[in-house]
Amino acid sequence: MSSLALPEGVQRARPLMLVVGLVAAFGLWSYPAELPPWRALGIVSAWVGCALIVASFVLMVREPRLARWLGGLEAMLRWHHRSGVLGYVLLLVHPLALAAEGWRDDPRRAWQTLDPFQQSWPVWSGWLALLLLMLGLAFSFSRRLAYRRWLVLHQALGIGALAGWLHVFALLGDAGLAAAGAGLAGVALAWRFMAVDAGLSASPYHVAAVARPAPGVVDLRLVPLAGAMPIAAGQFVLARFDDGPAYHGCGEFHPFTASRVGADGTLQLTIKALGRCSGRLQGLSPGGLARLQGPFGDFLAGRDAGPQLWVAGGIGITPFVAALREHPRAAPTTLVYLYPRSRDAAFLDELQQLAREDTLLELLAVETGDSPPPLDPLLDRVTGLAARTVQVCGPAPLVAELSDRLARRGVPGHRILHESFDFR
Ligand SMILES: Cc1cc2nc3c(=O)[nH]c(=O)nc-3n(C[C@H](O)[C@H](O)[C@H](O)COP(=O)(O)OP(=O)(O)OC[C@H]3O[C@@H](n4cnc5c(N)ncnc54)[C@H](O)[C@@H]3O)c2cc1C
Repeated sequence: MSSLALPEGVQRARPLMLVVGLVAAFGLWSYPAELPPWRALGIVSAWVGCALIVASFVLMVREPRLARWLGGLEAMLRWHHRSGVLGYVLLLVHPLALAAEGWRDDPRRAWQTLDPFQQSWPVWSGWLALLLLMLGLAFSFSRRLAYRRWLVLHQALGIGALAGWLHVFALLGDAGLAAAGAGLAGVALAWRFMAVDAGLSASPYHVAAVARPAPGVVDLRLVPLAGAMPIAAGQFVLARFDDGPAYHGCGEFHPFTASRVGADGTLQLTIKALGRCSGRLQGLSPGGLARLQGPFGDFLAGRDAGPQLWVAGGIGITPFVAALREHPRAAPTTLVYLYPRSRDAAFLDELQQLAREDTLLELLAVETGDSPPPLDPLLDRVTGLAARTVQVCGPAPLVAELSDRLARRGVPGHRILHESFDFR
């Protein structure tokens, strides 16, 4: 997810600035001036590792203003992963460097430093922290694990971090910046679980109408019950639907892009059955209550700046439909819409009608069947490709494959903007 709305360099640098700021604060504060080099490395790696873990906690908070400031949820997620992994590596260096210091005197001292059976519980808690962090990380990058199982295993990282702080406080007592770091991580965790996951910061909406534009796709019109969210076409919300007489929700917030943004604050979500929760949502009927958090994202923010190529994979059509419904194109735009079969293609008739009415809009609607989309022949049909800004929305493999082909055709990376419908 990228943006043309803010100076890109500044926006991209903000998560990095947060990480570097915390690393610098912890690194400088902990730097021991008069200790032998291995021991100094052991101490600094532990504190810098803690700083990176704190940063990764802050970067998992899904709060609209924070996300906007930090360049969007996807950028936050990217840096959440990076700082978590690097933090773990540095925490692993901590006992190894301390043992290396002992090795210089006597190898048996090095072993004593590492052997948990020769230690007390404050050191065991450190080993437990490393073990849990390793376990959590091992599962973090698995794409094959079902989402909920992945989430539970990912939470081992949180317990690992808790064990790590226990280790610090048991050994050092209330160590200044350590308390501040633990406090910051605690606030981030509480914010994430209470305000975001439990929905305390969500706005209530009423499900006013339900339509079914294609098999396995439900289209919901939502009317705000309190203040309307200031959402733009291309942005998404985190939505949870409360149980009703004929409907049992799954009690979770899921990301969905608005497919229509009304001037009166109403918005439309179009949801395809792609798994357990989105499958259940197909049974929704009018009258229910929705809770929304957002808006998030800045996909399509630069949509009127010069010629565009928009590529939608399946239900990835939602941000483009929202933009086209808002107003006619201001710049020449080719919309490539890929779907397995015509009957699965939500809004196809409406898009064909819009393309007939709007001279700047060209629609290339492609039924792919069960084969991979014919990307090269499609790109051959797009005139002036290198001068276009490309916006891609759909499953992660489509985004990756298309970005690769575009790069090979000389479209610079900063002109390829994407929204992947896959969050981990
Ligand atoms: C930015 C964004 C915008 C999206 N917009 C739309 C849209 O307009 N219409 C649409 O039909 N779909 C959209 N999706 C996809 C939609 O969110 C998933 O299909 C849905 O969450 C799947 O949940 P599930 O329980 O049905 O399936 P599962 O099989 O449990 O999950 C499938 C995948 O969805 C993601 N996912 C599942 N639960 C969550 C969660 N609670 N929070 C975040 N990600 C989760 C994970 O990547 C997971 O691997 C969007 C996704 C993203 C990231």
